[in-house]
Amino acid sequence: MSQDYKDDCIFCQIVSGQVPCFKVYEDERTLAFADINPLIPGHTLVIPKAHFANLMEMSPGDLAAVHQASQKVARAILKATGMPGLVVMQLNGRAANQVVMHYHIHLVPRDKDKDGLNLAQWEPMPGDMKAIEAMAEKIRASL
Ligand code: AMP
Ligand code: ZN
Repeated sequence: MSQDYKDDCIFCQIVSGQVPCFKVYEDERTLAFADINPLIPGHTLVIPKAHFANLMEMSPGDLAAVHQASQKVARAILKATGMPGLVVMQLNGRAANQVVMHYHIHLVPRDKDKDGLNLAQWEPMPGDMKAIEAMAEKIRASL
């Protein structure tokens, strides 16, 4: 097994075939499969076959591959479910509620007026422009 594989990682075990999944799509670098605790029918995960914990650790090539695969799978989810919208969600770190520490993209089909999901919905609250500017500057300086 390659050094990109992590023994105690459930998604690495899915990639290696030790743990089964409902596979939707696969290519050289990526795998997409059904989430077994779906928020809604069609909820699908797209992962790199190599193990990276999160966005900050991803290699540029795997990042591109996962996002290209996500576009393909997203189109198929919309076609298969007949849903009009789709949320792309990706969590980094336990503080963000990431549970499986192998990079993955959630593709969640949505029809916000009908699906009853409380997801990616917030009331825009006007911010403090000075504070926004200062934080943007701080982030820019951290690049
Ligand atoms: P999170 O790390 O919070 O972004 O989400 C992890 C997701 O992985 C959850 O939605 C789980 O339902 C899903 N999950 C965990 N184990 C499996 C598995 N063996 N097969 C499919 N989905 C899984
Ligand atoms: Zn892994």
